[in-house]
Amino acid sequence: MGDNDSTVDDLVDDLLASHDPRSTDAITFRGAQYDRGLAWVNFPEGFGGLGLGPQLQRRIETRLREAGTPPPQAMLFFNLFLAGPTMVTHGSDELRKRALRPMFTGEDVWCQLFSEPGSGSDLAGLSTRAVRDGDEWVVNGQKVWNTLAHLANRGMLVARTDPELPKHKGLTYFMVDMHAPGVEVRPLRQITGEAEFNEVYLTDVRVPDADRIGDTGDGWRVSMTTLMNERTTIGAGTGGPKRGGGSIAEAVYTWKHTNDHSAARRDQLMKLWCDAEVLRLTNLRASQKARAGNPGPEGSIAKLAFANLNKSVYEWCIDTLGAAGIVDYDYTFRRPSEALLDGAPGSARKLFLRSRANSIEGGTSEIMRNILGERMLGLPGEPRVDRDLPWSQVPRS
Ligand SMILES: Cc1cc2nc3c(=O)[nH]c(=O)nc-3n(C[C@H](O)[C@H](O)[C@H](O)COP(=O)(O)OP(=O)(O)OC[C@H]3O[C@@H](n4cnc5c(N)ncnc54)[C@H](O)[C@@H]3O)c2cc1C
Repeated sequence: MGDNDSTVDDLVDDLLASHDPRSTDAITFRGAQYDRGLAWVNFPEGFGGLGLGPQLQRRIETRLREAGTPPPQAMLFFNLFLAGPTMVTHGSDELRKRALRPMFTGEDVWCQLFSEPGSGSDLAGLSTRAVRDGDEWVVNGQKVWNTLAHLANRGMLVARTDPELPKHKGLTYFMVDMHAPGVEVRPLRQITGEAEFNEVYLTDVRVPDADRIGDTGDGWRVSMTTLMNERTTIGAGTGGPKRGGGSIAEAVYTWKHTNDHSAARRDQLMKLWCDAEVLRLTNLRASQKARAGNPGPEGSIAKLAFANLNKSVYEWCIDTLGAAGIVDYDYTFRRPSEALLDGAPGSARKLFLRSRANSIEGGTSEIMRNILGERMLGLPGEPRVDRDLPWSQVPRS
């Protein structure tokens, strides 16, 4: 056991001794966890971390779960894996002090305000404008596909602050108050029947300059921190490090609860099992090698593989269920409080529908292939004719 392991173990012992996880409310417990540097262990001291290797976080989480601490609510996905790393990397000290603790405890709930009707894959082409007015910015525009924005009180917003610069250079990143006047959140219903995501209209929304994350004009670089973390986290996938966890668990459940045990079906299941195991071990190896700092384009490997695997597994489940796979699903409109990529055993009907989005959310599989081709394999880039033009001169429909 290394020095860092015992440092972390001592702090976990101290946390558990002073806060019984079974009787302490989640916000108080998580606040105490943050104050001991056990929130994001790789973050700097004073900001929820200890400046240690990120692989130690698993050690902390395992010990806390064993002691009866419930896992964080699923709706904190954006807080923990996207907003946290972005804030700690690019936020001012004042903003980090203000925002990180409630982000970790769950007193704040964050959403991601990136995509727009005309800008998804081409995020850098976005149109939402932020205009400086004294110590504030005035924001106007429309965002779309914003997961759980109806529950959020904080948004990660990218807006155009200089239309006369080329598209990647005129962007700025803000923390926006989702309850500020002028923010309107409208549900968007998905193929599952649920409205897990939203469109968000911003009309003369005033954002203090103190809530800017990163320098003015540096929004593209800040966004990349968010997106690389998002892809790596999605790619690390459901089931985490547990063998047989995530979507493949549903396939095994389906196998056990159907009568179609033909050799062909078994063969397909075994192939999927091997694919799932290869992805799990690849992710495990990547996480053990991870160093402090943000992930790079290699996160696209896991994201792409995860999307392919999940879709194949749930397609197999529905095929195997036969007629039962297409009946008895409740399409009633509902507003979920989480956006889960897996579910309780027997959820194959819902998860088959939900998995269609896996190759779109967090960047499409085509974009992942472009990133891997260009940035990992060094292949020639696709032609980009608007790259150096002022954004205001780029033709738009
Ligand atoms: C379930 C779900 C949740 C989401 N949550 C959020 C969220 O919380 N916040 C947020 O901001 N966004 C969110 N999104 C939006 C998501 O990031 C975008 O949908 C995605 O980036 C694709 O953008 P688009 O929908 O505009 O499609 P487009 O960019 O219009 O793409 C359409 C098609 O063209 C292909 N394509 C586009 N450009 C290229 C290219 N250069 N080379 C090859 N093919 C290309 C794409 O791969 C795709 O098949 C979510 C999406 C989904 C499905």
